[in-house]
Amino acid sequence: MEHFDTLIIGGGSAGLMAAIRASSQGQRVAIAEKNHSVGEKLLLSGRGRCNFTNAESDMDIFISRYGDKGKFLYSAFSKFGPLRTREYFSSIGVKYVEERGKRIFPKEGGSKKVLDALISQCRKNEVKIMRGTPVKAIKFNAGHVERVITENDEYTADKYIIATGGKSYPKTGSTGDGYTFAQQAGHTIIPLYPALVPVRTRETWPKLASGCDLRNVRLTVFADGKNVAERFGEMEFTNFGVSGPIVMELSSHIPDWDGELQLSLDMKPTLTHEILTARVKREIEAHSGHGRFRGLVRSLVPAKMLTLMLELSDIPQDKPVEYISDEEISEFVNLLKDIRMNVNGLWGYGNAMVTRGGVCLDEIDPSTMRSKLCDNLYFAGEVLDLNGPSGGFNLQICWSTGYVAGSVNE
Ligand SMILES: Cc1cc2nc3c(=O)[nH]c(=O)nc-3n(C[C@H](O)[C@H](O)[C@H](O)COP(=O)(O)OP(=O)(O)OC[C@H]3O[C@@H](n4cnc5c(N)ncnc54)[C@H](O)[C@@H]3O)c2cc1C
Repeated sequence: MEHFDTLIIGGGSAGLMAAIRASSQGQRVAIAEKNHSVGEKLLLSGRGRCNFTNAESDMDIFISRYGDKGKFLYSAFSKFGPLRTREYFSSIGVKYVEERGKRIFPKEGGSKKVLDALISQCRKNEVKIMRGTPVKAIKFNAGHVERVITENDEYTADKYIIATGGKSYPKTGSTGDGYTFAQQAGHTIIPLYPALVPVRTRETWPKLASGCDLRNVRLTVFADGKNVAERFGEMEFTNFGVSGPIVMELSSHIPDWDGELQLSLDMKPTLTHEILTARVKREIEAHSGHGRFRGLVRSLVPAKMLTLMLELSDIPQDKPVEYISDEEISEFVNLLKDIRMNVNGLWGYGNAMVTRGGVCLDEIDPSTMRSKLCDNLYFAGEVLDLNGPSGGFNLQICWSTGYVAGSVNE
């Protein structure tokens, strides 16, 4: 039976970072990865561009993006936080750029550049990456891991790190095995939900604007008529509802609600009803005598939204603008400010960027990522009960917890 100082289960972002950290401290490290390649989900991140962290420099603001559970990350961030992450990747050849919302991306090469850099560090440090090696079971004995059983072999180690990811995008290998292993070690699993996931609507008309990217819009969630959450930013219509960054973020407010849920899209959030009405009237005046309602709509929304807006409005598209009544203008302005959709559920794990819930944080030491129930067991990455909004916050969990879990404790 081969023995390692550190054996990591799962070769995703967290597992690779843990391996690099442990091996750079002189540990003999192996990763058992079920897929035939490591970092499959990392490759998909940011649509292949990999938004690997965020440049928000105020640590309290950064931590607040994870909600109440964010405070668990203070210790890990003090050792390997967002700034150190940028410096680290830069030092291993991943130069970066900052984009809208302080999102950090590799300057070139996208996700592959990040993954190649991590693999090359593993190689340099002689990490043994065992691809095509699914861990089938972990043998526990009285608060201690005894060995790990894979399809063909068994391995022992001084220290074991579970970095098996969540349940989202299972085709990348993260099928939730880590939760089972954690439960066998006695850990509590906080209920799991798909998060950062597109929303289905009861209405079928979103497909009329499918693929239309909207910027600078506001989306509000109404639960039984009460505003429970809202976001300003980007979204898109899909064949079955809505998606995009602000939809994904708001999706975390949806599983908790049994009652009626609606979404309201404000296409012109920076304009009040009065200012927007005045703007519409100016457009009408400018096109009076030669313009049609269709042209008016076109001047106010992106081209791909035109068919949808004409469908939702009661005003005939060929109506000459000078015949549009004040009442019709008011209704049209109301539509621009409040396009209502009824929520018909979320997409499942197959389309969710992350998993909400996971290994209960109360049972993990935040300064080491060590289990409080099993003395040689550690956790890192999405398997933990931590998730953040889009913008680089989820990969940051992996880098920081991976680094800490891989560290040799003084
Ligand atoms: C489409 C998409 C886009 C995303 N974009 C971004 C983004 O731009 N920025 C951002 O911050 N976050 C993004 N995320 C989220 C981010 O990618 C994840 O949070 C992160 O990759 C999770 O890393 P992890 O190492 O915890 O788990 P994973 O990357 O899921 O890795 C877990 C690994 O463990 C392996 N494994 C599982 N079970 C076993 C077993 N029994 N034996 C052996 N191996 C096993 C899996 O095969 C897998 O390789 C995105 C997610 C998706 C799906």
